[in-house]
Amino acid sequence: MVSASPSAPLLVFDFDGVLVDGMREYWWSARRAAQSLVPGLFLPEEAPAGFAQLRPLIHHGWEMVLMAAELGRAAGDPASLLTDYDGALQPALERWGWTPRQLQEALEAVRAEAIASDRGRWLALHRFFPGVRERLAALEPEGVSWAVLTTKGAAFAAELLAAADLKPVALYGHEHGSKTDVLRQLGPRPLWFIEDRRPTLELVRATPGLEAVRCFLVSWGYLAPGDRQGLEGAGIHWLEPRLFQASLAHWP
Ligand SMILES: [Mg+2]
Repeated sequence: MVSASPSAPLLVFDFDGVLVDGMREYWWSARRAAQSLVPGLFLPEEAPAGFAQLRPLIHHGWEMVLMAAELGRAAGDPASLLTDYDGALQPALERWGWTPRQLQEALEAVRAEAIASDRGRWLALHRFFPGVRERLAALEPEGVSWAVLTTKGAAFAAELLAAADLKPVALYGHEHGSKTDVLRQLGPRPLWFIEDRRPTLELVRATPGLEAVRCFLVSWGYLAPGDRQGLEGAGIHWLEPRLFQASLAHWP
């Protein structure tokens, strides 16, 4: 499945915020999913500013639906959500009477319907970050294998990759388990994991068995203020576009 040399690293890319900027789609689909669960729920067509601020903290797709609903509440307060995001999830679920699974299914139903009814329009809500398509396409001729590991449904990432004519050696979505579980299964070959969510990289760093995974935080992703601080002490490398474009020997 992957390249022959056992010492060559497998590059494992997060999807949203690393390969693809789907910010327009996140609000578009999260808004519709929330409205499918609460008919008549008013949410603006344009994402409120708080949604983009919350995005670096969001781990799973279902959280976007919950945050859309929360931002639509008269008393919904982005500042309090930002202050204690993890602590805000459970009370918000209880307030709406929702489960994560129900929200994930609503989100994926919206996306499946969007692809079925107007695939081109749905695809156009996304864009690959500048230079990413070209860099990924160049990896194979360099003898470097790459995979995608995302909390998105795998089918939706597959749609976007196929539309860009990009072919990872493997694609793992939320159906395949947690990112740390998938990384453990991909070992023991050398793994380079490229993310834009610092808490996810910190979790990898703290997970027994994943000590050898090289972790990279991309400078162009959905970063929270302060994400760049103290990276080296945390065992995480900072990856800027210039180095991403360079051969792997030059990566930090
Ligand atoms: Mg991401």
